[in-house]
Amino acid sequence: MSERAGRGFIIEAENHQQCDFCGKIAELRPYGPRGECICFDCAMKDEETTKAQFAKRLSGGEGENSEQ
Ligand SMILES: [Zn+2]
Repeated sequence: MSERAGRGFIIEAENHQQCDFCGKIAELRPYGPRGECICFDCAMKDEETTKAQFAKRLSGGEGENSEQ
């Protein structure tokens, strides 16, 4: 029962890593042009790529890159 709440928390904590683009420690998203993990600021600098990556992820996890 407590498992669900615990999981969400852990995932968020793990998202704080070093940005592949600017080197900042932040919550990262895999929205770089080649699936790089980048921070929100960098994602917003290339909004089109971010949107495309976001759509790709939504549309179904084909598992092209085998990150978790
Ligand atoms: Zn960045």
